[in-house]
Order: sequence, then structure tokens, then C-alpha cells
Amino acid sequence: MEGLIPESLDEALEALSERKFIPIAGGTDLMVRYKRWKNLPPSFPSLPLFIGHIAELSGIEKKDDEIVIKAATLLSEIEQSPLVPSILRKAISQMAAPGIRNMGTIGGNIVNSSPAGDTLPPLYVLDAKVVLLSKNERRCLFIYDFITGPGKNQRRDDELLYEVRFKVPKHTHEMYRKVGTRKANALSKLSVAALASSRDGKIDDFRIGFGAVAPTPVRVKSIEEKVKSRHVSELSDDFINEIVNEYGEWIKPIDDQRSTALYRKTVALRLLRAFLLQLKPV
Ligand SMILES: Cc1cc2nc3c(=O)[nH]c(=O)nc-3n(C[C@H](O)[C@H](O)[C@H](O)COP(=O)(O)OP(=O)(O)OC[C@H]3O[C@@H](n4cnc5c(N)ncnc54)[C@H](O)[C@@H]3O)c2cc1C
Repeated sequence: MEGLIPESLDEALEALSERKFIPIAGGTDLMVRYKRWKNLPPSFPSLPLFIGHIAELSGIEKKDDEIVIKAATLLSEIEQSPLVPSILRKAISQMAAPGIRNMGTIGGNIVNSSPAGDTLPPLYVLDAKVVLLSKNERRCLFIYDFITGPGKNQRRDDELLYEVRFKVPKHTHEMYRKVGTRKANALSKLSVAALASSRDGKIDDFRIGFGAVAPTPVRVKSIEEKVKSRHVSELSDDFINEIVNEYGEWIKPIDDQRSTALYRKTVALRLLRAFLLQLKPV
């Protein structure tokens, strides 16, 4: 198979500035998408640019109050890192199976931009930012502005995803649920990631993201604001019903081979309700 194996990040960006390549990190999405008959190499639409080995694209560090994860860091490294918030580690631990997590990268999951990409709901609720590099430019976007549709995002052909970064959340409540057909190697029927904090009975943070229930992951800040201003004693059945109904307007799943729209919507809203009930005093 032909392709370019750059020795450094600069060499990779130089190559991308000159012609179109298809970056390959772990190849776990691409090798499936472009596979051909047995014994034939995959048929990529443009020349592959191998980036998984580039040292500058790998690693996890804490910088001031932020966690920074380089794009080609393996999913398995992130799963095991004590620096990474548990909501993201939990999501990764339920992705694929160990062999795929030892090849696949966080950058590949983000740039693949599938509505069922399992790192995305946690990254949405972490208010993660993605940093894109080209030969002459560095851009930083919130992940929810970067992803624009199923398999679509704002990456230009001359750019690489360099890193993803987010502030360490200081939450008191957390929920991550992936609903799939089985425990390993099952893409999500739907997933929910949620963080909240309540201090002295006041909800001062509430964030919830849903995966595989719309063309992009769903996070609705206007509804979050309504919950945030409340005291936990105000979480009445009527208020919870109102919030669940409002999210129902945003959750627009499809029927496909993995699940039905009705199942996805029903379970997503039940998990939302369960999280709101967790915040109520017992
Ligand atoms: C059996 C199996 C099970 C799976 N299970 C799950 C699952 O449960 N949940 C889930 O979310 N996914 C799952 N996947 C999909 C896949 O493993 C993940 O999306 C993984 O994170 C992809 O990472 P990668 O490095 O292999 O991506 P690649 O295949 O290398 O690349 C994916 C896309 O990202 C682009 N890209 C990669 N890195 C960069 C970069 N730094 N800059 C610019 N573009 C880049 C590529 O050009 C390509 O478009 C599964 C795949 C398989 C084969």
C-alpha cells in the first residue's frame, strides 16, 4: 500500500499544505470504511498520510487548570490515565474491545464525527476544545462548533487535529450510560453523559449530552440554564416532566440496523429523568 510516513509533525503539515492526503492514525475506522475483497489492500480516496507514530501527537498532560490530550493518543492510554476525568474514561472503557482501543485514537473518534462516536458526549459536557494545526495556522474551536453533521466537521484538508483540551470539572454528580446490544464491540444505540454539581442545596452546574439520537451529539445549554438556577427542593415532578419534554424536542433519532427511533428516544429521556432524580434530596 502506498502512503507517506512523515518523520515529524512539521513534515506532516508541510505535506498537507502541498496536496490532499487522508490522515490515518489507528486506522480502525478507515480500514473498515475503505475495505475491499480479501487479500486486497483498502482503497483510500486519496494517498494515506500515516500519523499514529508521530511523537508530538501523543500524550496526556495537565497544563494549569486544563487537561490536554494529543490527538493520536491511544484510547487505551486515556482509559488508564489518572489525569483524565472518569466520565471520559468510563466512555472509552466501553468502546469496542481492548485490541481496538490499543490501535484507535481519540483524534480518530473526533474527526470521524459519527453521531455514535462514544468520546463525543463526554467531550461535549466537558466543554472540550479542539486545536487544529496547518502549516501556517492554529485554530481552536469548541467541539460542539467543530462537529457539524454526521461524519462532517470543520477540519480543512490541510489541517491535522492536534489536541483536545478541557478544564477539569468540579462536579458532585456524574452519569455515563452506553446502551448497546452487548458489552464489547457494539456501537451505541444511544449514550448519555451528564455532570452536575449542587452545593448547599443549589444546583450550580448541570450539563448533559446525548449520543446517537440526532445527526450530531445533543447538548442544549438553554435547558441546562433552567435547571442550573434551581434549588434541589424545586425539582418537583412537574418541573422534571417539563425538562424531559423540552429535551424531547431536541432528541430526534432514526431507525437503523442497531435500534429504532422510538427505543432510542424513550431510553434517552428515561436516563435524563434518572439523572435529574439523582439530584433530588432523599
Ligand atoms: C470492531 C470495531 C468496534 C468499534 N467500536 C466502537 C465503539 O464502541 N465506539 C466508538 O465510538 N467507535 C468504535 N469504533 C470506531 C473506531 O475504533 C473509533 O472511532 C476510533 O477512535 C478511531 O480512531 P482511529 O485512530 O483508528 O481513526 P482512523 O481510522 O485512523 O481515522 C478516523 C478518521 O479521522 C481522521 N483522523 C484521524 N486522526 C486525525 C488527526 N489527528 N487529524 C486529522 N484527521 C484525523 C481520519 O482521516 C479519518 O477520517 C469501532 C471500530 C471497530 C473496527
